[in-house]
Amino acid sequence: MSSSAEKIMRGVGASPGIAIGRALVVSRSPVQVPYRPLAEDQVDREVERFREAVGAAQNELNAAKAELGPDLADYAYIIEAHLGILGDKMISQRSEELIRSQLINAEWALGLAEAEAKGIFEKVKDNYIRSRASDVEYVAGQVLRHLSGNNGIELSTIREKVVVVAHDLSPAETTQMDLGWIMGFVTDMGGPTSHTAIMAQAKAIPAVVGLERVSAEVTSGDFVIVDGSNGTIIVHPEEETLHDYRDKQEAYEIYAQEILAQAHLPAATADGRCLEVGANIELAEEVGTALNYGAEAVGLFRTEFLYVSQKTLPTEEELFTNFAAVAQRLDGRPVNIRTLDIGGDKFASSLELAPEINPALGLRAIRYCLKEPSLFRTQLRAILRASVHGEVRVMFPLISGVGELLQARQMLEDVKRELAGEGIPFDPDLKVGIMIEVPSAVAVADLLAQHADFFSIGTNDLIQYTLAIDRVNEFVAHLYQPLHPAVLRMVRQVVTAAHGAGIPVGMCGEMAGDARDVPLLLGLGLDSLSMNPLAIPRVKQVLRLASAEEWAGLAEQALGYATAAEVGRFMQGELARHFPEILAPRTPLPEDLG
Ligand code: PEP
Ligand code: MG
Repeated sequence: MSSSAEKIMRGVGASPGIAIGRALVVSRSPVQVPYRPLAEDQVDREVERFREAVGAAQNELNAAKAELGPDLADYAYIIEAHLGILGDKMISQRSEELIRSQLINAEWALGLAEAEAKGIFEKVKDNYIRSRASDVEYVAGQVLRHLSGNNGIELSTIREKVVVVAHDLSPAETTQMDLGWIMGFVTDMGGPTSHTAIMAQAKAIPAVVGLERVSAEVTSGDFVIVDGSNGTIIVHPEEETLHDYRDKQEAYEIYAQEILAQAHLPAATADGRCLEVGANIELAEEVGTALNYGAEAVGLFRTEFLYVSQKTLPTEEELFTNFAAVAQRLDGRPVNIRTLDIGGDKFASSLELAPEINPALGLRAIRYCLKEPSLFRTQLRAILRASVHGEVRVMFPLISGVGELLQARQMLEDVKRELAGEGIPFDPDLKVGIMIEVPSAVAVADLLAQHADFFSIGTNDLIQYTLAIDRVNEFVAHLYQPLHPAVLRMVRQVVTAAHGAGIPVGMCGEMAGDARDVPLLLGLGLDSLSMNPLAIPRVKQVLRLASAEEWAGLAEQALGYATAAEVGRFMQGELARHFPEILAPRTPLPEDLG
């Protein structure tokens, strides 16, 4: 294809699918900023120059926000976040302070302020929040662009089919492009929850992010293959590679059309058992994507975002607005709002958490809330108030026994009385569920079921606590085994306890979204599964092809094995037998192509 040698670069698959075409490099990694000491009498002018650059960046962002079409209106919050960072004292005010105190040029001061601000974000363990450090970098880059007078490529003028290559891409930049011409996105920056990823998924454009140096190594006009499913790009592909990828692209497009066309069908098994398939979300804005991918509910609404994204605690009003927006957007479909699950690997900038030696075993989730009743009460009030705007349920995380559940329920009753006294409407029959994610909760699941309206198994934590494997420690990641017999027995025990008490039981850990585990979960008797929205179409497809009765028998057999490896081998064989087209190990799935 080209005189240059074929080169494969690996990053993070951010939006699935395959794009093949010419690269257009729209921005490169920032150049080294100049260091220039100032004389005292130059300082005011330098601050003025800095303010002009900030103002120009602000104008650009506001213009981009005004131009968001209806299909991207839900993403206005991303531009708001950028405006917020630009106006925040950690960038603007801090840069000005540094210009004045250290007598340095605006570019250098901005670089220092940016490094300080990114340092704060990067310490956060929560992946989503940590990835927001890239927003700080993006915003600082925009100001730097204006300071240096380099205004980059005019994105609105793109009028040929291209693969856009950039250091980073913001929604503001994305909205300037006519996306009809964009075959794929590749960027140096970003992770799976970066804004490029969110936007690319919303528009079904293949994307690979986090390639680190792609904007430096690819030149406009280079021929590239973007494999958003695998997280790779191939520059200057050989004829043979290109041929292979054209086949894979065709297979993917057929698969994507078929699976999305079926995403809205109910997840009814071949023998007529219906499971509710829901989405896990963190932001109200994700409801649109969840519905597009066929979500029938939000099985897990993680509510930590408002606590970790700002320096002050969210008010009842803010929480209420957020919860009510989700309930309304779901238009009658249920949402399980999980009360604050802070602590452990989830850090809140607005809360002063004492350092702990074993945070995963420390003051987290419901334990923290019961210790901070006024914070908990504010959340419960907001959830109850939102309950008149849709099918809202409350869900308590990390319940370890009946005492804790009764305490939490008591607070809920107190808050209901308070609201009733104030004449504020709420659903008096609000359903109360608990997450089963601590082994002690499994042991007493029959007792807990007497006091809960539903269970949701959180395998991410349940596996961590059962197998004693830190879920964020890469050195023991290989021991994190969802198919471990201990985990499967626990799931079985929880289902038996729930059904014995006549309450439904779902699963909302990552395991629920792994299509290869889903038939087993069906066989173990789960009533609902909640997952990353992108996993929904495939999980529904597997459920529709499966027989609940047959998998109940196979789950029984799986429970007879002594090790995770044996269960794994058994499952591989059964998947190949039952789903030869879509789940057989040696038939590459579109996600596995390449
Ligand atoms: C879980 O533990 O499985 C879960 C869904 O909760 P989180 O990942 O938010 O801890
Ligand atoms: Mg959990």
